[in-house]
Formats: sequence, C-alpha cells, structure tokens
Amino acid sequence: MHLYIHIPFCKQACHYCDFHFSTNTANKRAVVEAIAREIALRKAYLPDGDMETIYFGGGTPSMLDEAELHSLLETIHTHFRVAPNAEITLEANPDDLNAATLQMFAKAGINRLSIGIQSFHEPHLRFMNRAHSALEAEQCVKLAQDAGIDNISIDLIYAIPADDHSILLTDLSKAFTLNVPHISAYCLTIEPQTAFGSWLKKKKIRPIEEEYAAQQFEILVQSLGENGYEQYEISNFARNGRYSNHNSSYWKQHPYLGVGPSAHSYNGASREYNISNNARYLEALQKDAIPATIETLSPADQTNEYLLTGLRTKWGVELDKLETLSVGAFALQANAELGRMTRKGWIREEAGILVLTEAGKLFADRIASDLFID
Ligand code: SF4
Repeated sequence: MHLYIHIPFCKQACHYCDFHFSTNTANKRAVVEAIAREIALRKAYLPDGDMETIYFGGGTPSMLDEAELHSLLETIHTHFRVAPNAEITLEANPDDLNAATLQMFAKAGINRLSIGIQSFHEPHLRFMNRAHSALEAEQCVKLAQDAGIDNISIDLIYAIPADDHSILLTDLSKAFTLNVPHISAYCLTIEPQTAFGSWLKKKKIRPIEEEYAAQQFEILVQSLGENGYEQYEISNFARNGRYSNHNSSYWKQHPYLGVGPSAHSYNGASREYNISNNARYLEALQKDAIPATIETLSPADQTNEYLLTGLRTKWGVELDKLETLSVGAFALQANAELGRMTRKGWIREEAGILVLTEAGKLFADRIASDLFID
C-alpha cells in the first residue's frame, strides 16, 4: 500500500511551476490538521495491508515544523500498519535544510529525501525564481548525509535556455560529486498558468526549442549512464537499483491513497481528485467531508494510463495486461500502429513485453498516445 501527502505551501512561486501550492502560510497548521483528519477518514480506502511507502510531496514539505510532521506521522501510524522497512520520503528544498531540520526529519523516521536542487548555476536559479542559492544546493546534500540520510534523490531541470550545453555539463558534474543514489531530471516546460507561460504569451521569453531540449536530454542520458546511473524511467535514474519505490508503484499501477489539497488517489477502478484550494479543502474537512471528485475509469482509460506510465519505464508494458485491461480492444485497435513503431525502431517486444528502444525514449509520450485506444 502507498500513501501520498500533499503539503500545499511554498515560500515563493517558481516561475515554471503549475503544482498546487500557496505562499500564504497563515493557515498552515489548520491545513495540516485537516490532512490528518482526512487520513483518519480515508483509512478504509485501500485494501488491508502494510503501508510500504509514504511520500510527503508538494508544495514544500520541508516547510513542516516538528509538531506538524509528528502529528501527520502519528496519525498515519494510528490508522495504518506501516511496514518496518517502509520507504518514507520527504521532498525538501535546499534552503530548508540545515543540521537541525535534518536531524528532526531523521528522528521522525524520514529515510529518503527528494531534494529540489534543479540547478547549481546561480543565474539559472534566479531565472526560475528558486528560493535557494547555488551554494545551498551544493551544501545541503552533504548536510543530509551527515545527518544519516543517505537515500537521497536530487531533482535537476534541463533545457533551461543557454548559449550552449556547458552549464548542463557543469550541473551534471557537480551532481556526480555529491554521490547520491538517485537523480530525477525534468525538461523545463512552459505551462500556461505560470509566470513563464504569461511571459511567453507577451513574447518576453522564447519557447524552449525542441531540438535544444532533445540534445540536452541525450547529453544527460549519456552522462548519467557513464556515471553508473540506470535510466529506469524516462526522467529517473538510479545507482545500484535504488529506485523510488513510491513512484515505481504509480508507474506499475498499484493502488495508492493521496491526501491533502489537490492530491489524487487510485484504487484500481477509479481515480479521486481532491480540490486544489486550501481554504475550501479546510472548510470541507472541518465538516468531515472529503472534497474530491471521482472518475470511474473505463477499459480504454485503464489501458491508456498503463501505456502512458508503463512505456516510460524499463519494465515496459505486458501485452497480456493490455488485452485484459482493454477487454480485447488493444490488439484490434493498436496492432497496425505497433507494427509501424516497431519498424521505425522505436519499440520492441521481448517475451510478451513492450519496451521502448533508446531512440523511442526520445518520443515516449507521443508513442504511448499513438497507441491509445478509444
Ligand atoms: S518549490 Fe516546488 S512546488 Fe513550490 S513553487 Fe517551486 S517547484 Fe513549485
């Protein structure tokens, strides 16, 4: 079983971000209490079983103080059986990490950190409006390791506009010196509801060129590979098999419960989407109501979601499972397209499992959507 807790607060808005968060922290304590209430109300959402992963995401969960984190973890332990070796991840920003906060996280039971470094290049951090400095980005990992947390993932962003690839190469070489077991690397995308989106509309910034992004992705994959990181999902790289168990469970379509404003849940048959508004979330939970909309997944929805997430991973998608989920429609509707992609060298079948080739990884989402069924 898997639990996601969304902490919807940030110090400042990064110019590219379209996640749900608020920079107004006046009601942070009340929202945390409401999330604890939701955990209690939702204890029967998942089938009985040990909680194998817990993931504090956001927003910025490293803004939680000791009492808030303690109250959430205590509530989880009251209502769920947490596996003794559960992976408990907390997303953190470098500016929140110091010896005291890291010790507090470790003492609370956080055994994995996902640190939003994004870049070690000061002008790029300022361009994206990150709250931390390049120096903090470099120092925080060592501080975390000193506090006894060695299961660390760092996030990097590539395709940030630059004259050449030298800044990306420097970012990567700095990342390698940190000796972390996991790196997530995401392409800068410009979403309409963000500062970058509005500047793009006003022509204050230029769009990210596809070719530049593809070149950076290739550099990244090669460099990470040469340094011992396995690309086990398009954007995720791990050394020595230290994958994110939590995120892998999403990609493998395991059921999970998501609590907090904007969190999603999945039970195998439907998805639930919590409201993306802190005040309205709070108001509902104060009346013991869960402000979520439910979407029942049709066979086509289940098949297409499996394609979209599974094809991005090294585990690929099983043809038998596609047939079961689609009630026999996949072969009928997608076989011709599958043949075309195989001939192009983008996808291959190994013992009933479809996996993307190196060339196909450049177009993962497009390949998946071309195989979608109605
Ligand atoms: S800290 Fe993370 S969640 Fe908050 S605005 Fe920046 S990218 Fe978005």
